[in-house]
Amino acid sequence: MSVSQMMVSSTTFVLAVVLTAFIGVPAFAGGQALGLKRPVLDHRIDPEKVEQYEAAVVTAMAMSEEELLSFVPEKTPTYFCHCPNCHGGSQGLGVMGWDVANPQQLTCNYCGMVFPNDQYPADQMIEGENVLGEIVQYSYHQDRKYDDLRIFYEGYILEKKRTWIQARAYDLAKAYAVTGKPEYARRVALILDRIAQVYPHYPVMKQWIRLFEFAPSQEPPYPSNGGRWDRWTSGELPEEPALCYDLIYNSDEFDKLSAERGYDVRERLEQEFFIAIFDANNTPPLEESGQLATRNLRRAGIIGQVINEPRIVHWSFNWLKTMAHQRCFYDGSLSMAPSYHYQIMGDFRTSFNLMRGYTDPLGYVHPETEVRFDNLQPEEVLPFILRAYRAPSIVDFPNGTSSPFHDTWAGERRSDPRDTTVSTILPGFGHASLGRGQGSNQMQAQLHFSGAYKHSHRDNLNLTLWAKEREMLCDIGYSHVRSRLWAANTMGHNLVAVDREEQVGSGDPSAGDLVWFFPDSGGVSVTEADSTRVYANIGNVDRYRRMLIMVPVSDADAYVLDVFRVRGGKTHDWLLHGDADRDMNASCSVELPHQRPDMLEDDEEWVEPVDESSRFNLYGCIRDVAYGAVQGTVTITFAYVDEPSRGLRTHITAGDNAVVNLGVSPSIRRAGKFDSEAFDYWMPQLLVRRTGQAPLQSTFGAVYEPFAGDTFITEVSAISVEPGDDGVYAVRVEHGNAVDTIISTLDQAPYPERQIDGVSLHGRLGIVRREGGTVIGMWLFEGESLACAGQTLAGDTAAFTGTIQAAIRSVDGALYDALITDADLPEGDQLKDVWMVVTHGNGYTHGYLIERVERHEGLSHIVLSMDHGLRIDGEMTEELYFPQRQIAGVNAFAIPLQTSR
Ligand SMILES: [Zn+2]
Ligand SMILES: [Zn+2]
Repeated sequence: MSVSQMMVSSTTFVLAVVLTAFIGVPAFAGGQALGLKRPVLDHRIDPEKVEQYEAAVVTAMAMSEEELLSFVPEKTPTYFCHCPNCHGGSQGLGVMGWDVANPQQLTCNYCGMVFPNDQYPADQMIEGENVLGEIVQYSYHQDRKYDDLRIFYEGYILEKKRTWIQARAYDLAKAYAVTGKPEYARRVALILDRIAQVYPHYPVMKQWIRLFEFAPSQEPPYPSNGGRWDRWTSGELPEEPALCYDLIYNSDEFDKLSAERGYDVRERLEQEFFIAIFDANNTPPLEESGQLATRNLRRAGIIGQVINEPRIVHWSFNWLKTMAHQRCFYDGSLSMAPSYHYQIMGDFRTSFNLMRGYTDPLGYVHPETEVRFDNLQPEEVLPFILRAYRAPSIVDFPNGTSSPFHDTWAGERRSDPRDTTVSTILPGFGHASLGRGQGSNQMQAQLHFSGAYKHSHRDNLNLTLWAKEREMLCDIGYSHVRSRLWAANTMGHNLVAVDREEQVGSGDPSAGDLVWFFPDSGGVSVTEADSTRVYANIGNVDRYRRMLIMVPVSDADAYVLDVFRVRGGKTHDWLLHGDADRDMNASCSVELPHQRPDMLEDDEEWVEPVDESSRFNLYGCIRDVAYGAVQGTVTITFAYVDEPSRGLRTHITAGDNAVVNLGVSPSIRRAGKFDSEAFDYWMPQLLVRRTGQAPLQSTFGAVYEPFAGDTFITEVSAISVEPGDDGVYAVRVEHGNAVDTIISTLDQAPYPERQIDGVSLHGRLGIVRREGGTVIGMWLFEGESLACAGQTLAGDTAAFTGTIQAAIRSVDGALYDALITDADLPEGDQLKDVWMVVTHGNGYTHGYLIERVERHEGLSHIVLSMDHGLRIDGEMTEELYFPQRQIAGVNAFAIPLQTSR
């Protein structure tokens, strides 16, 4: 489209475009979408609120056009700014305040100082070249406390200005949409035109918390932590300008401005801004460009629809479809953490809402996929997304907050509070939650065995306990303060640290394996996971597994038995810390006669952390420690300071040579965003240490007794089983008039007999409850028999096992999602609601919930409750969801059974 054509009146112009479209000639020039009904997106504008929309633009309208346009930065803004006076806040984000009334100054939100000033002048300069070869400069202040910190007030002021002008432009565009007043549209057109003028001169900058510098190359692909429009590539596509453009697209203020300027304003905006940014950022490494890539995809969907560029809409939709599989496990949860899950699913949801009903321009077919969209219904193309949207909510706490594993903000509420809790699991992600109870007696014991795939913690086999309305044993969750390492790393979790080392922190070896999930067996629930590979860095560790058993005592109360088995290394630290939201006091049932300031060794030094990326020795975080060697059962009580009759008693049996260390550790959460408060809040910290010759073997048994009012357990004692071996653990728990005898083994068929207290077990787990010598309850898990006082509980089969020959999926047109085996399994509903565990050729396991079994042509079809996401072809298995591995070897399965009475 030539400039001279643009000079005709807008009416004629619209007609010309429509005619062009009708004769089928693709006209992908600026302003091509004039024929579309505007706006093309749903901006949720309420026409009733005219006054509100007009009130929002008073400040912007009171300025001269020149003054208003001065808020559009002429170079890339800086996103981080620290205070050189107090170094308050964290990350250099949200430290400095800004006000449109004094747009050239910043005010520290922490110390109140105004910048720039003579005391902390911006008297230094960096300079570099943009892609056009022009010199661009930024002034800065060299921090006096930290050599590596440069403070760019000027660049940060640009960021504040740009945030302000973009928001006002959208306000103006909405005011225009409800009033039709051309003076509002003119200002938006001016702002957008100004952006199109300056953007080509923006340099590519690299930026992070303490970094702002010219990127070595000014050409795409841009560095992942940098770019021209944003602070990272995955946020590089603009959003508000596209939304503004949609609302004023058909205004003839564009045509008037084009006449004034002597060029087609729409064309320039589209080519030199929207399409230029898109073309610089549509390169395939998108999947590597960080977790926020979906933000770019959402924005691409917006831009593509607003400027009517179907290739951009298809690019967005196709990548979203691909990424749902690339980033989510088969259970729908994102590979990272609930906080990121919801953020990213928010992009999916918004994108799909905005694309719903989208139709490509007449005659368009995507050149590579050969697909065209007519009245696009995204969830019909990708039904999996409906499961994914809220996947992690299945393990939410009773109050509706997300379980704060990995980089998840504690207290983030994504669900309504609920009244009843049951056992749930994210079998793909690797997080099981044993649950029971109603109202204030809801209780959860959660076992985490997920791998670490960005925004993760080194936290395999972490335990979290919710009981009596509180998060009594917590996972600290996300933090950006300088003590973050404690929240994110192994010793800051409730688990066993081997040889004072961190677990493997990334990729497949960091993932644990589900062994068992029994959600409800006559009121008792059990889960077990094995994560031996997370200590592959310690060569001789060949056992690292944890079993949790939730045992009800009454409607109000239950206890959790925790059996943590470790073999390998020479130091085993069993770690447990309390509530990070409320203060707790800790006491111990035996005297701990010795004191030490922390858990550092003599040759180790504490290095005070500076910011969230600081490294330090985590044992230096465990402070004010009282310690002593112990024998038998030790009971530690964590009681709430605000309500001492509420809390948790932990009865520990650790075997010989155990030393109990009881101190405090940083609870961090209440420090919020303040680095200065990173070590102001503390929670009780227990460390039970066993040391010995490698490979050391330990079985830590703990009974957790949450209480509100009276405690209910009178005694816990570890007992010796005949014959014993290092895989066997047994405990007697006395409460009220009842005695529970629990025997746990690592036995396999044929199961040897294990005896204690008149109880005989052939199997992996047996629980017998007696009152006055009379058996009143029996539970057997993966076993052949459990006998006591003349009563016998027999399982016909301890577990079904076999190999998987094939897999079928309903999304491929099969009647159901099923794994197919030549093993002879009981037909019908007999295995309904049982969790099977498949061990893939690489040794990793996954759990699947059985719906029923059908027999066809001599094979058992194990029909599952959800898509397993597996393609099995001979001895090759492909995971269609994250982590999308190709796995060689046979898939073996076990269907462990339970019985009770
Ligand atoms: Zn300050
Ligand atoms: Zn954590």
